[in-house]
Amino acid sequence: MMSSRRPFGVHRRARTPREQPLIARPPAGARPAAPRARRRRPAVIRVHDVSKTYEVGQIKVRALRGVSLRIERGDFVAIMGRSGSGKSTLMNILGCLDAPTSGRYEIDGTDVSQMDEDDLADLRNRKIGFIFQNFNLVARTSAIANVELPLAYAGVGREERRARAADALASMGMANRLRHQPSELSGGQQQRVAVARAIVTNPSLILADEPTGNLDSRSTEDVLAIFARLNAEGRTVVLITHEPDVAAQARRVIRLSDGEIVEDERLLGLRDPLPSARRLKSGHTSAAAHIAETKR
Ligand code: ADP
Ligand code: MG
Repeated sequence: MMSSRRPFGVHRRARTPREQPLIARPPAGARPAAPRARRRRPAVIRVHDVSKTYEVGQIKVRALRGVSLRIERGDFVAIMGRSGSGKSTLMNILGCLDAPTSGRYEIDGTDVSQMDEDDLADLRNRKIGFIFQNFNLVARTSAIANVELPLAYAGVGREERRARAADALASMGMANRLRHQPSELSGGQQQRVAVARAIVTNPSLILADEPTGNLDSRSTEDVLAIFARLNAEGRTVVLITHEPDVAAQARRVIRLSDGEIVEDERLLGLRDPLPSARRLKSGHTSAAAHIAETKR
């Protein structure tokens, strides 16, 4: 499904950075401000009655039907649902990769439909980090060069780019794999590179579409621990998964069916610590997993 869409930033050419940044952000390397300092700011995501209809020849596919959703800053939200229920469509709208057919989407109180392509590109680059199931790394290109890409698009100079990309990879435990190409890395390692690429611009919102779908249980636990850490640093995380054990790591679980939200469950308050990553993909024999499965 993702192959028909433009991989994050990959075909976007470098552009000169605007003098007045569209989105205020902390200096390089700084962590997002603590949640307390942000209490008065609007919800990071507000979706109002959003529908999306794809037209393929004569056939219309209603992928989203009147979805309304508010996501608070610092939350960790899992989106679940069967294949074809509209999860990726919703995620692509949340990430400003695609526009709704009707309805409104606001990010940090700004109506996205009012923004031009340049502002949208800026917003995506500065504010949002994407992670995909198939990693979407550029082949035959070193890990560090992959992670540098979003900084190159943002017009960051070569030396600073190298240093920040190396830092981001080191924070993912990949300091000794900087020169490896994707084909020379395991799935879990490729996903770490992809996470490093997503966070190197210091975004406050992390969007991940089935990030553990191609990973074994050990790598899944590692990647979830990384998401928990990014969330503890104040970043908002929205993650699509079809695995109940993965969703159980979130603070809130939203379930989509046929393009509609059919369930919205809060597991943890915004300030509660996340459960540490437990054993995953163990055959889904636990009671919790069983309940989650039968609720589908
Ligand atoms: P999910 O991620 O939950 O599997 P998607 O959001 O990818 O679901 O798809 C929702 C529905 O929209 C499906 O019926 C799918 O076939 C259709 N769809 C998704 N993307 C496109 C597209 N680019 N063109 C036409 N139909 C699409
Ligand atoms: Mg999908």
